[in-house]
Amino acid sequence: MADPKGFLKITERELPAHRPVDVRIQDWREVYEDFDRGTVTKQASRCMDCGIPFCHNGCPLGNLIPEWNDLVYRHDWGEAIERLHATNNFPEFTGRLCPAPCESACVLGIDQPAVTIKNVEVSIIDRAWEEGWVRPQPPEVRTGKKVAVVGSGPAGLAAAQQLTRAGHDVTVFERADRIGGLLRYGIPEFKMEKRHVDRRIGQMAAEGTNFRTGVDVGVDVTVERLRSEHDAVLLAGGATAWRDLPVPGRELDGVHQAMEYLPLANRVQEGDYEQPAITAEGKHVIVIGGGDTGADCVGTAHRQGAASVTQLEIMPKPPVNRPDSQPWPTMPTLYKVTSAHEEGGKRIYSVNTVEFLGDGQGRVRALKLVDVKRTDKGFEPVEGTERELPADLVTLAMGFVGPQKEGMIEQLGVELDGRGNVVRDGDYATTVDGVFCAGDMGRGQSLIVWAIAEGRSAAAGIDRYLTEETALPVAIPPT
Ligand code: SF4
Repeated sequence: MADPKGFLKITERELPAHRPVDVRIQDWREVYEDFDRGTVTKQASRCMDCGIPFCHNGCPLGNLIPEWNDLVYRHDWGEAIERLHATNNFPEFTGRLCPAPCESACVLGIDQPAVTIKNVEVSIIDRAWEEGWVRPQPPEVRTGKKVAVVGSGPAGLAAAQQLTRAGHDVTVFERADRIGGLLRYGIPEFKMEKRHVDRRIGQMAAEGTNFRTGVDVGVDVTVERLRSEHDAVLLAGGATAWRDLPVPGRELDGVHQAMEYLPLANRVQEGDYEQPAITAEGKHVIVIGGGDTGADCVGTAHRQGAASVTQLEIMPKPPVNRPDSQPWPTMPTLYKVTSAHEEGGKRIYSVNTVEFLGDGQGRVRALKLVDVKRTDKGFEPVEGTERELPADLVTLAMGFVGPQKEGMIEQLGVELDGRGNVVRDGDYATTVDGVFCAGDMGRGQSLIVWAIAEGRSAAAGIDRYLTEETALPVAIPPT
């Protein structure tokens, strides 16, 4: 184990500082300052190597957290990356983007701040890339079986890497012009620089994974052809059907879905153009929705030079103090406080948008809001609280309701559950022979760590389908 008395000697939780706000909103680089490895080692020493490591169960990937905390404490970073990669294909993604349910589950968190698991994770993988320890692992034996993976987000990439290493001939189909899915065009550069995605794709290509961009399966290639040319197909297209706000004025110019706004900003970073077609520059921006995507809109608007940024959330204002009778950590994802919120802007809680008001020229000029209160029947408007809030640009970041049905899913005829997600069995197989499904397309909108865990597990199901056995690990059964 790490230092047996480490948690007694070091009770402070130390994390990398964020770059000063006035500096970082001038660029798109990640928000963190460099962090010295000596501090990471000390922080890793706080791990108690619990007999029952709740962190391990808290992680959908089953990451071997006490093992790599111990290895970092002992300065054996080379072995640490081996243990980290044993359960996670892309720790540089989760180490930057995951809300760390492992830390919420950490036993040390009962009495002290939890172990800095996520920072230890990202420190291990960043060092491994720097040292050249992350190398392609092409298979020694080829099976001759062909697998199509549709979608190149974290679930699709994880499955493709596992299946390629198992010896199958894997092709990833992506309808966008670059590989990465949400990692590429949804996540802003300041949360994860795209060089991390490019580096992994390079490794996967060197291992033998094929990538085809600009191919919308069900439109550019029929599902019949895809199935006839492959021995198995994995659907990993994500939950891309967004939740809308069908109130009067929704059609006004200046009201956009977050996923119409964020990709344009990411394309500037990719060098596609200098100015996005939708920009917050000089505008009063309203972001509707309080989750990660809403925060991404807030941070993007700051960097584009918005005149003001206001985020609206229907949830009540979070309590300032936790009652003494409730010592457990609060649910970390309920009220997001992210680096984007440190950068300015205002948050308004317990409000509902009842109308978008136009300027007479077809553009939005304001929102009509009303306060809401929670009752037995849900959220109800508070009489006499209707008011206007000026707005030149509105982004809707209200989540996703499931996979897109038109095209591939309808043509395949796979069974859907009551929420519109693809039904899978214990091997991630759909109701159509040889067609599997992983990630948000089957689970519904969820975390990146679940997507990678599902991709790895679906790869095991496909490998068993193709070869009647598998040595690939299964992280989680499908829900
Ligand atoms: Fe270490 Fe926390 Fe996991 Fe216990 S629960 S093994 S203290 S990281």
